[in-house]
Formats: sequence, C-alpha cells, structure tokens
Amino acid sequence: MKFTPEKYAIPDAPMVPFIDPEEIWEILNTTVSTKERVKEVISLALSKKRLSLEEVAVLINADDPELIEEIKNGAKTLKNTIYGNRIVLFAPLYIGNKCANNCTYCGFRASNKDAQRKTLNDEEIIREIEALEDNGQKRLILVYGEHAQYSPEYIAETVRLAYSVKKGNGEIRRVNINAAPLEIEGFRTVKDAGIGTFQVFQETYNPDAYKTYHLRGKKADFNYRLTSLDRAQEAGLDDVGIGVLFGLYDWRFDVMGLVRHTNHLEACYNVGPHTISFPRIKDASTLDLGTKYFVSDEDFSKLIAILRLAVPYTGMILTAREPAYLRDEIIQYGVSQIDGGTKIELGSYTNTLNHEQNLNKGQFRINDERSLNEIIDELLEKDMLPSFCTSCYRMGRTGEHFMEFSVPGFIKRFCSPNAILTLAEYLMDYAPEHTFKKGWEVIDKNVRLLENEKIHPVLLERIEMIKKGERDLYF
Ligand code: SAM
Ligand code: SF4
Repeated sequence: MKFTPEKYAIPDAPMVPFIDPEEIWEILNTTVSTKERVKEVISLALSKKRLSLEEVAVLINADDPELIEEIKNGAKTLKNTIYGNRIVLFAPLYIGNKCANNCTYCGFRASNKDAQRKTLNDEEIIREIEALEDNGQKRLILVYGEHAQYSPEYIAETVRLAYSVKKGNGEIRRVNINAAPLEIEGFRTVKDAGIGTFQVFQETYNPDAYKTYHLRGKKADFNYRLTSLDRAQEAGLDDVGIGVLFGLYDWRFDVMGLVRHTNHLEACYNVGPHTISFPRIKDASTLDLGTKYFVSDEDFSKLIAILRLAVPYTGMILTAREPAYLRDEIIQYGVSQIDGGTKIELGSYTNTLNHEQNLNKGQFRINDERSLNEIIDELLEKDMLPSFCTSCYRMGRTGEHFMEFSVPGFIKRFCSPNAILTLAEYLMDYAPEHTFKKGWEVIDKNVRLLENEKIHPVLLERIEMIKKGERDLYF
C-alpha cells in the first residue's frame, strides 16, 4: 500500500523541518467531529487506509463517551486483524546516565546534583546481559544519556559486546538503541554494529513548548532533533522509532505531530517509523513540573487507540512506566511491544538485593515491577502469544521492504510461526512448570490456527527440533 502525501504548508523534503504548529492547530480547531464522521473515519481505518491529519483530528475531537468506546473497539479490531494475538517482549538496559543536557523532566539532567552517575564498564555490561539472558530475554534496548563519552563508536562497541554475551542457551538477538541523535556518519557507525531500531523521541512537537523544557545543551535545538531520523535514513538506517513524552504539551497536538512525522518519513523515504512510543511523564529525582498538560488514563488510552487507527502498520510500544492494570487494558487497543522484568537503575539486573526503587539512580519511576515470567504467564492466561521474534531484521525485512511485507498473509507466514518458535524456546529453557504447561496449550492452539497454511508441516517439524535442543530457528 503506497502512501499518498498530503499537501502541507511546509512541503516534505529530506532533512527539512516539517512541523507548522499553526497548521496543526488550525486543523484541530476547525475539524468538526460529528457522530457520522467519526464512524466514517473508523471504517476508513478498518479498511487499513492511512488516515489524513484531518481524519485524525476527527477522532481526537470526539468526546462523546460512546464514540470514544467505538474508537477503542475499532482499534481493538484493527490490532487483531493486523497483529493477531502476538505481543513482542523486550527489556531496557541503561548503559550510562551521564548527561550534558538539562531536560527539566528527566532525573538524568545535568543540573540534578542528587543523581548518582554511572556508566557500566564491560564487565558490568556482560554481567547485566547474562542476568537478562537467564530470565529468557532475547531483545534489548540499550539506553544512554547524552554525553561526549557515549560517542557513536562507544555505542557501537557496547552493541557488539551485547551480541557477544552468550550464557547457556541465552543470547541477545536484537539490540535497539535509545540515545541522543547522531550525525549521518554516526548513524552509519551504529548501523554497522548491527542495531535494530534507533529511537529518538521528539518529546513534544510544539517548538515553543519544547524550548521551555530543553534549556541548554544540544537537545535545546528543536529542528536538529526533528530531522534526526532523516539523518538516520540518509545513513541507510531505515529502522527508526519516534515518540512523544506525553504530559509536556497538549496531547491532541502531539498525536498530530506523531502522525505528521510518520507522513514526513513516508513521503521522503517511502518508509514510516518502525515503532511509535508514548511515554507519559513519571516521577523522577527532584522533579518539579506543573500538571497543566498531565494526560489522564482515559485520554491516554483514547490517544493510543487513535494512533492505532491512524498508522495501522506501525509497531506501538508501551513500557513499564505504566502500571500493570493500565498496561493490561491498553495492550488491547493496539500495542505490539511491551517490556517485561524491567529495571532501570544502572546495574540493577545483577544487583537484586535492593528492591526499593531509588530515583537518584534511575531516570524515572517505573510502575510495573512484574517479572518477565509473571507477564508471560498473564499474557498466556489471556490467550495471547508472547513473542521474542527477531527474524525480520535478520532476514533483511526492514524499511521499504518491510512495508511491502506488511500485508495480510505476512503474519501467518512469519510472525505467528516465529512467535510460536520463540515461545517454545522460552518454555523449554526458562519457564517454571505452571507456565510451561499453559504455554504449550497456547502453542497447540495457535499451531492449529495455521493448519491450512503451507508452513504448517515445517512449523511442526521445527517445534520438535526445539524440543530436542535446537535453538534459533526462524522463518
Ligand atoms: N538521552 C537520550 C535522549 O534524550 O534522547 C535518550 C533518551 S532518555 C534516556 C529516554 C526517554 O525517556 C526520553 O526521550 C524521554 O521521552 C523519556 N523520559 C525522560 N524523563 C522521563 C520521565 N520523568 N518520565 C517518563 N519518561 C521520561
Ligand atoms: Fe539527558 Fe536524555 Fe534525560 Fe534529556 S532526556 S536529561 S538528554 S538523558
């Protein structure tokens, strides 16, 4: 499905900032959201058409509780038809929290004298990764503050180190990155280390609001950050993730910003972001922010449902910043990836003695402290299919090519079988008895759903191979 670019006040061109705040406000303020129009837009989305900014505004402006329910139900249906019942699991690993910037919402900001600064050395990184592997993790996102020490070469070295750590059947098969934006050359350097997605969150797409939170350092430059993923694309890194820190500005504007950014990347590079993240501001060390733009749970779940409808083929990530009860609810509206067993204090996967979160050692407070196995267990209970799949990027199915694959049939040929195989590995290597039993029941059920597919006999064969000890089989 090709995306037809819309006409914007600032036309899309590579490396050119593309946000016109007046245009976004104009669309939001003039779009009328009648019952009929909302239903029309939901059905458009269900036919998997990418929504225009005006259509997104129709959903944003809907405030009748019944219509909001319809939006959420639409998102549920769309998620089920595109992604099925899979949910991909990963864990963050903070490598270093030194930071030269001063983002007022972040515990790592340079002016925070209470922050306990640390950069893991090689030995510590290895031990952290071994601990993560012992839990069954296969996919990591490495996180860094913005500091001269965390150069592209340093990031690339830590990525290579992460891939090299093997313990038992444990190994890391995909390393994503969340770090400061790089120059084109820097993006090339980290791409060569074999990274998956490079995430840069714009935090807010409103330039004036942005200025008030980013007081100094490189991150104070709104447009440099806005065009960072253009630089990634120019470097050949086509697997990128965007995000907004909800709570900094009016959520309605920032949802439009995320869609505008997606449109920009699609118009310029023929490929949208691989993932969208939507962190909400959480408590952090010595944090003193107003609550003017605080996003309620209701608005938060509504905006996630709207994003699902607006960009049907983009992965959506919901992290352990949010409490378990809310994650369980929101997953249904279109989330495709969650973290599990998350710890964000530097070195905390190895240091298991201290259970209390210490905000001076982490970036913010996490609110879902369930272990990876607890999360897997609960997903299985709901008949969902936990997945550690890392196949696409290893098979070169990223970027424009990935978009071509994102059509009906793709899930049945690749995603479901790979989810089944990676869950089978997890059950064999790491699951306690009750999870083991439940997990195989879910696998059997999902294998039966693929009975009429060409892949079915090969899948059965591979499951048997995994039972006999083979690992890392994928389609
Ligand atoms: N230092 C890099 C940067 O700023 O791009 C890496 C990102 S930071 C370690 C990861 C993300 O955490 C930020 O982009 C921001 O959206 C989010 N974040 C920062 N402070 C937060 C808070 N108090 N609550 C929730 N999320 C926060
Ligand atoms: Fe540094 Fe990133 Fe935190 Fe800003 S959000 S203070 S750049 S770690």
